[in-house]
Amino acid sequence: MDESKIEKTLVLIKPDGIQRSLIGEIVQRYERIGLKLIGLKMLVPTSDFVEKHYTLDPEWRMKNGEKTIQAYKEKGENPPTEDPMEMSGMTLEKLKKYMSSSPVIAMVWKGANAVKIVRKITGGTEPLTSDVGTIRGDYVLDSYQISDASDRSIRNLVHASGSVKEAEDEINLWFKPEELMKYKLVQEHILYDVNLDGILE
Ligand code: ADP
Ligand code: MG
Repeated sequence: MDESKIEKTLVLIKPDGIQRSLIGEIVQRYERIGLKLIGLKMLVPTSDFVEKHYTLDPEWRMKNGEKTIQAYKEKGENPPTEDPMEMSGMTLEKLKKYMSSSPVIAMVWKGANAVKIVRKITGGTEPLTSDVGTIRGDYVLDSYQISDASDRSIRNLVHASGSVKEAEDEINLWFKPEELMKYKLVQEHILYDVNLDGILE
């Protein structure tokens, strides 16, 4: 087993996930693929904490702005601004309001390629275009255009770390080391072991 591929990643069930009674559905999606839940808490983040979370990666502002502008253009629509930093500045203000408006659930999931696997299950940022079968594609119907018209954040139920580095920084922000459990799941034998000795009687 290549231990270097065992990763940890942060998932947040956002206020709309809690309000839509989707906690169980969301947890089930990550659990059933074989990931291990090693940390879990419920809290109401302050708006300063939300800003800290989204600006841990100094590149996030530029990347988020470019992605949003691109999404508008792909649909043949005009973005509210052509300046990525202005775009993401607006998004950040909306996020601070959205994410501090109700309790959220923070979780750490661990397993092989956890960061990419969790992003795959979560789906793309905009529910209108997220793949069918993903959480954002199956349980919610928001779009950039609708959320912009109401001057609010896109409601897409969950946050998931975008890279191994982002995951490390976000986990450090949300959890103390002692809040992360160290334990084995019996299913790890079938997921990762070289052979299956001891099954046949
Ligand atoms: P992701 O959550 O898919 O990694 P980002 O990190 O780019 O996406 O953005 C963080 C969150 O901010 C999104 O999940 C979404 O809730 C919200 N958001 C992103 N871009 C916009 C936008 N242009 N308008 C409104 N909300 C947005
Ligand atoms: Mg992100």
